[in-house]
Amino acid sequence: MKKILKSVVLKAILTLIISVSLVFGITVGGIRLHRLNLSNRYNFDYLKGGANKVILFVGDGMGKDHIEVTEAYYEKELFFKSFKKHGSVSTASLDVLKSTDSASTATAFATGKKVHNKEISTLNYQSLPTITEYLKENGIGVGLVSTDNLYSQTIAAYSSHTTNEENIDDIISKQSSSGVDLFLGSGKDKYASQKFIFNEQGYHYYTNYREIDVNAKKVIGVFDELSDEKTNTTIPSLDVLTKIAVNFMETNFPNGYFLVIECGHIDKMSHNANIFKMMEYLANFDKAINETYETLKEDENCTIIVTSNHETGGLNYNGEAKDDINSMALITYDGHTLVDVPYYIHFGKNDMNNYFLPDIIDNTDIYKICKALLSD
Ligand SMILES: [Zn+2]
Repeated sequence: MKKILKSVVLKAILTLIISVSLVFGITVGGIRLHRLNLSNRYNFDYLKGGANKVILFVGDGMGKDHIEVTEAYYEKELFFKSFKKHGSVSTASLDVLKSTDSASTATAFATGKKVHNKEISTLNYQSLPTITEYLKENGIGVGLVSTDNLYSQTIAAYSSHTTNEENIDDIISKQSSSGVDLFLGSGKDKYASQKFIFNEQGYHYYTNYREIDVNAKKVIGVFDELSDEKTNTTIPSLDVLTKIAVNFMETNFPNGYFLVIECGHIDKMSHNANIFKMMEYLANFDKAINETYETLKEDENCTIIVTSNHETGGLNYNGEAKDDINSMALITYDGHTLVDVPYYIHFGKNDMNNYFLPDIIDNTDIYKICKALLSD
């Protein structure tokens, strides 16, 4: 009896400690525990009208140590780190005691709302309005690109609503009527049987990226997989698809668009404990950003944002030299962690690079920033 009482009291104390830390905020080992009061701290209305083109690059699973180890390996600074505005992003979902997942962060990016893990632009079975819907109502182009399957979370949150990320058929069917102008990514087998519904909605459907006509009005390009760069004739890499996407958006929407480019393989390769492949994909992601910047740097209406949805692998880079980098030594955790991830922003309007942006923002703020920039 005494033993039971003791365990009940202990449990109560533990719950109290956890609750207090969640609400009021304690930082343990770089992990911010005040996860309930992170959203709605900032209003980004002052960014309104700041751009008519926003390109959001999402490095799935990319934490600050992923960047550092890649720089050590390639012995050079990644290009996107040269962007003038930078800070970090908190990534928690409503499941406060669990690591965040890609569905909840993608939903935060697409809707500005915190949801539970696995929910795709819905909260408790209710659809949440997305930035995509807002932009399409206002005649602004929307393009979505990923190294991952097009039904995977980041792309899905911008182009569908479903209660669970595993409802793949539901996601694909909703994507066909989403109004999104461009889809480029993997998942060819899954989409093959749905080709006709995309055709019915006016999409030109491609499985060979070399055949994509950037003058076509609506495009879906779906491939077996994306390479980490060693491009052959049929497997595109992210930098190649990014070029096509920018060309497509510039051709069809010279007056304004929103383009999301995701590298899903930083996360995948971190799950696989393959740091060397992770670094190849991350370097290719950086190349895609660099080339996009070079193409659009004269355009003062173009803002480029680089961020991540969550960290994967609990990477712990301790300054090892190139030859000492070792996947097993770096990866400390099998899955996603709660550490903040970085953000970098380049504003095309030079004076905006002097604007205030908080050092720490929330993933829901990514939505607010994109929406404010693209609103009048
Ligand atoms: Zn993952």
